[in-house]
Amino acid sequence: MMRNGELHSGAPGGPIETKWERHKGSLRLVSPANRRKFDVIVVGTGLAGASAASALGELGYNVLNLCIQDSPRRAHSVAAQGGINAAKNYRNDGDSVFRLFYDTIKGGDFRAREENVYRLAELSLKIIDHCAAQGIPFAREYGGHLANRSFGGVQVSRTFYARGQTGQQLLLGAYGSLMRQVDAGQVRILPRREMLDLVVVDGRARGIVCRNLVTGAIESYAGHAVVLCTGGYSTVYFLSTNAVNSNATAIWRCYKRGAFFANPSFTQIHPTCIPVVGSQQSKLTLMSESLRNDGRVWVPKQPGDRRPPNEIPESERDYFLERMYPAFGNLVPRDVASRAAKAVCDEGRGVGPTGLAVYLDFRDAIERLGVDVVRERYGNLFQMYKEITNEDPYQVPMRIYPAPHYTMGGLWVDYNLMSTIPGLFVLGEANFSDHGANRLGASALMQGLADGYFIIPYTLAHYLAGNTLGNVTTEHPAFREAELQVRQQVERLLSIRGKKTVRELHWQLGRLLWDRVGMTRNAQGLREAIEKVRELRQEFWENVNVPGSGDDLNKCLEMAGRLADYFELGELMCRDALEREESCGCHFREEYRTPEGDPKRDDERYAYVAAWEYTGEGAEPRLHREPLRFEVVQPSARSYR
Ligand SMILES: Cc1cc2nc3c(=O)[nH]c(=O)nc-3n(C[C@H](O)[C@H](O)[C@H](O)COP(=O)(O)OP(=O)(O)OC[C@H]3O[C@@H](n4cnc5c(N)ncnc54)[C@H](O)[C@@H]3O)c2cc1C
Repeated sequence: MMRNGELHSGAPGGPIETKWERHKGSLRLVSPANRRKFDVIVVGTGLAGASAASALGELGYNVLNLCIQDSPRRAHSVAAQGGINAAKNYRNDGDSVFRLFYDTIKGGDFRAREENVYRLAELSLKIIDHCAAQGIPFAREYGGHLANRSFGGVQVSRTFYARGQTGQQLLLGAYGSLMRQVDAGQVRILPRREMLDLVVVDGRARGIVCRNLVTGAIESYAGHAVVLCTGGYSTVYFLSTNAVNSNATAIWRCYKRGAFFANPSFTQIHPTCIPVVGSQQSKLTLMSESLRNDGRVWVPKQPGDRRPPNEIPESERDYFLERMYPAFGNLVPRDVASRAAKAVCDEGRGVGPTGLAVYLDFRDAIERLGVDVVRERYGNLFQMYKEITNEDPYQVPMRIYPAPHYTMGGLWVDYNLMSTIPGLFVLGEANFSDHGANRLGASALMQGLADGYFIIPYTLAHYLAGNTLGNVTTEHPAFREAELQVRQQVERLLSIRGKKTVRELHWQLGRLLWDRVGMTRNAQGLREAIEKVRELRQEFWENVNVPGSGDDLNKCLEMAGRLADYFELGELMCRDALEREESCGCHFREEYRTPEGDPKRDDERYAYVAAWEYTGEGAEPRLHREPLRFEVVQPSARSYR
């Protein structure tokens, strides 16, 4: 909501520990008998979407749940490996709700809202109970308690896991709940649909327009509210750890309908991915952060040392994270670890054929724990690494390098998770999230499930009960207008028949963004990037070749539509990064650093969420600021040394 020209979250005042409880108490309810009168459209079936759709179905709303994949279980959340955080303190190692809150605020470099993060930490306790009750096969200790491990940026063990398949197991749990609601007739699932526009009637979100990806039909769906759970946009960089179907189309089209886009340049580059090997790859593989619990990261001390790793003696190895950050060692947060890896590679000490890799070595862990324990903890990740690289990490260190992984940016939402378009709620990675300028490992699953299972059931009811929402059907002219636009875009893409493939152009955009708005940024590079993105975008619209037709399954057409949005989003990312003249978290502006090389924040000028408003084709977007107030944790220099 806007107040005196500033954006505000609408969170209540008072002590942070009781804000959510008091807020919940003040929200309106929809009585059980009235819930069936409301149609709710949930877009996405990842952890955010499946948890929201099942929770809303269980409450008695009529839910329509759509996804791109052929099964809800294939949403990108299935790929999450390492775990999910919760402040249970099972290890008695000093953890608490407050500490999880504090770690997350600090990890995000003081660019997240205190009240949202506190709520997230509080809800983490409920999530684990809920998921354990669903039967998620979390790892357990000998005595039966759920086991924990550590992730980056923290000094406690609070990450719950199911080997290296935590996302898959959590998604199966949510899917089970979803199917229960499908059986009960509360949720209807429409797979193989891509949302291509939002329909706004009288200023409120009242429906969506989709393309049926199998038949090509343009379909409209009306409802009383729309809940977007469409994931992140790391594939803007072309190569990333995300599934190739991940995209920004749904949130971007909502942006163009009036939803503000927050912190678009806050993108996370994950330090432990299998390095790029050539130009024919379409994605990169993550090696879970959990590996940094026991793996040690190093490079040779001497630049250009090409000896095989096992021939490099201990005295000639530089365990650079342990050296630079003794307090956290290999478990520094992702942004810190990624920049350190880039720095040693830039010094010529990178390893492997390209020199763009560092070692992640389990030799000492195997000696200390034995191979069986290491296999028990990480076996499936080791197996995956071996299948991809043909090297055995039990024998030789893994080679890893940073890669685009997660987007903290997304649609701006208030404390109720509602965007600036009334009736449009945004959950999970698709919103600008609670992670500030850098997400801590194992916190995305926590956030998606908090949003879906525990927040939206309250806040959506409040919206539905508090507004008179007339009957709107797909016959409304706003649907006709949106359908026409979607059809015209499809026809335009198919009519160009140029010489360049979608993949080639996406590769070019991705490389440009990786270089200029990736791990490090500077003003000149960003200004040039804005020009280059525009040139590439023009080339796309004049010279792309989208073969086939719009009347059936056409993967090129799907990808072209997503790339068209990525050109526009890429430009906004550069603009956002240029506007923020400070370094914070993953946003590392080369001009703003401490003498030690750490990011230098400017709290006086930039302690705000940057929320961008679309103002029309070719016009400059308008920047709105949501000031961030720190009443509980005073912003300090974020040090892990
Ligand atoms: C390899 C990898 C490992 C990870 N490991 C962890 C981990 O261990 N712990 C952790 O906390 N986080 C992890 N993350 C991050 C985490 O997995 C994601 O942030 C989270 O799963 C996102 O969930 P989501 O529900 O918001 O979106 P997603 O799971 O991405 O789901 C998006 C859904 O939206 C649908 N969709 C998208 N666009 C459209 C459209 N236009 N129309 C219709 N449907 C659409 C998709 O079909 C899909 O169903 C990992 C990420 C990666 C890439």
